[in-house]
Amino acid sequence: MEFRVADISQAGVKLDEPLELHWLTEVFSGDFPTPFKPLSASHLTGRLRRVGEQVVVEAACKLDLQAPCSSCLEKFDMEVPVKFMVTLQPAPAKARQLPSELELGLEDLDEIFYHDGVLDLRDVLREQIILSLPMFPKCSDNCQGLCPTCGANLNREQCSCQEGIVDPRWLALKSFKTT
Ligand SMILES: [Zn+2]
Ligand SMILES: [Zn+2]
Repeated sequence: MEFRVADISQAGVKLDEPLELHWLTEVFSGDFPTPFKPLSASHLTGRLRRVGEQVVVEAACKLDLQAPCSSCLEKFDMEVPVKFMVTLQPAPAKARQLPSELELGLEDLDEIFYHDGVLDLRDVLREQIILSLPMFPKCSDNCQGLCPTCGANLNREQCSCQEGIVDPRWLALKSFKTT
């Protein structure tokens, strides 16, 4: 998935790239490990366009993932759509050494660069996939979660702690009243 920027015509290049399962696995378990596990290969569709020296990437894919529910901790399968549009700039030439303050300023701009006239789409995609992941994946909208007292999965069983439970805020009020 490397493209020579010079080869990208003004009209653009259509993308239809396979995303192998082993590559996706590496994305989720690599430098920034996540609790997500890809279940199948996928493919990326979209378009590359060139605007002067900039390259605009518009692309999307759908990923079949498995992760533990943030509420009941049970593993479940989900489909996560990834859709993005980013603009890449040519990296500033090394020969033209920048003063250090200016270099800092460049980083602040949060720009994405391609190097030596070659755009590596996998680098872009890796970041966009991570950004698309749900922060708190939930197995269903009405997941009951775990009992805070005994840890029972309330989606599957009703534990006996329920009746005795008093909201700790009420407990605090109670003791306040009696004193
Ligand atoms: Zn759940
Ligand atoms: Zn319980």
